Amino acid sequence: MSETTHDAEIVVVGAGPAGLIAALALADAGASVALVAPPAPPVDYRTTALFSNSVEAMDAFGAWATAAPKAAPLKTMRLVDATRRLIRAPEIAFHASELGLEAFGWNIANHDLTAALGDVVAARSDRILRITEAAASTSISEGRVTVTTVSGRRVTARLAVAADGRGSKVREAAGIPVRTWSYPQTALVLNLDHTAPHYDASTEFHTETGPFTLVPLKERQSSLVCIEKPAVAERLAAMEDDALALELERRARSLLGRFKVASPRQTWPMSSLKAETLGRNRTVLVGETGHAFPPITAQGLNLGVRDVVALAAIVRRARGLNEDLGGVAVVDRYASARRADVTTRTIGVDLLNRSLLTDFLPVQLGRALVLQLARDINPIRRFLMKEGLRPQLFESA
Ligand SMILES: Cc1cc2nc3c(=O)[nH]c(=O)nc-3n(C[C@H](O)[C@H](O)[C@H](O)COP(=O)(O)OP(=O)(O)OC[C@H]3O[C@@H](n4cnc5c(N)ncnc54)[C@H](O)[C@@H]3O)c2cc1C
Repeated sequence: MSETTHDAEIVVVGAGPAGLIAALALADAGASVALVAPPAPPVDYRTTALFSNSVEAMDAFGAWATAAPKAAPLKTMRLVDATRRLIRAPEIAFHASELGLEAFGWNIANHDLTAALGDVVAARSDRILRITEAAASTSISEGRVTVTTVSGRRVTARLAVAADGRGSKVREAAGIPVRTWSYPQTALVLNLDHTAPHYDASTEFHTETGPFTLVPLKERQSSLVCIEKPAVAERLAAMEDDALALELERRARSLLGRFKVASPRQTWPMSSLKAETLGRNRTVLVGETGHAFPPITAQGLNLGVRDVVALAAIVRRARGLNEDLGGVAVVDRYASARRADVTTRTIGVDLLNRSLLTDFLPVQLGRALVLQLARDINPIRRFLMKEGLRPQLFESA
């Protein structure tokens, strides 16, 4: 092997949150890992609410402690029907204490999360070889995957973990097709200082154009995801700070007092993606490489963490049995373990989003009824809270 060829059991491509968490979990499962990814992620002003089970899983392989000081607990989740429709759902608040939890989860700025995870990866250089370059190409042969970086370095491995996002080239090299579809919506993202306390509660206002969600970030600071028609989102994004703060405060019904813009703004066009399978040809997909959808009920990265947890358990067992980590048996085991969770979350978020957008009365009625039952009937309420945090019906491996 030449000096510029590295060998590892597993090569992970992409150092967004899913790739970083995957590298750490797989190293913890005993594998030698090469992580191929460019030095710094692009500027990302989003925040991520990670549910308690994601945080527990990350903590178990040492990926949370460094991030924890930057994260804010999310103890109450409030849903408010802010539509002006004939049939409206009742306001409802879910409390983590009802499930005996300290918090439903923790909200953290994406740049803080990836920086903290990057530090932990650097501290695991015994098992993780970090190559800070983009992958230029991937080739898959009988027994190995070879990833070649932009400068010509080569990494060979038994298994490739594609974590290179929606436009994944590794997924393409593995011949895994995806279905994509878009929505007439754009998310405006920014952080807001406010004069009233948030009491560790998030509030999701459901409007005719999508949710308007405030999630606690610091004391008297919350992150906002405002899903709007694309032209309206762009118009809001272009407003002066004071005018924007006033408009957002109006939309939030002054629930958190006066607003002040506390970060740059970003807009994200809303679309979904689902891969035909999460595993084929010595390649497995984690995070948005395999599934993506609008940020409603904070499911995206939580689903990605569950991908990683399932993969790490399968890899740990396969190593113990001396199986080929990229062999058909292992790759298929992962793909089938993740199928139900990914499918039900993708469909669930899609339906929820469409139920907000449609004026069709029976759908409005159905949504209002579900929320009414969740407010008044304890077992249904508990079921919905638990199902929101992790799949109960289709528990994966
Ligand atoms: C507005 C908004 C709010 C959200 N809020 C939440 C939330 O509250 N909770 C939640 O769970 N989810 C949330 N999500 C979803 C969450 O942000 C995503 O699931 C998550 O960021 C996806 O991470 P990822 O690592 O899979 O992909 P990405 O973050 O896209 O990472 C892919 C990485 O691959 C790298 N890459 C690309 N090409 C190459 C290459 N050739 N070689 C090497 N590297 C490459 C890129 O540089 C990038 O760093 C939200 C999404 C949006 C849009």
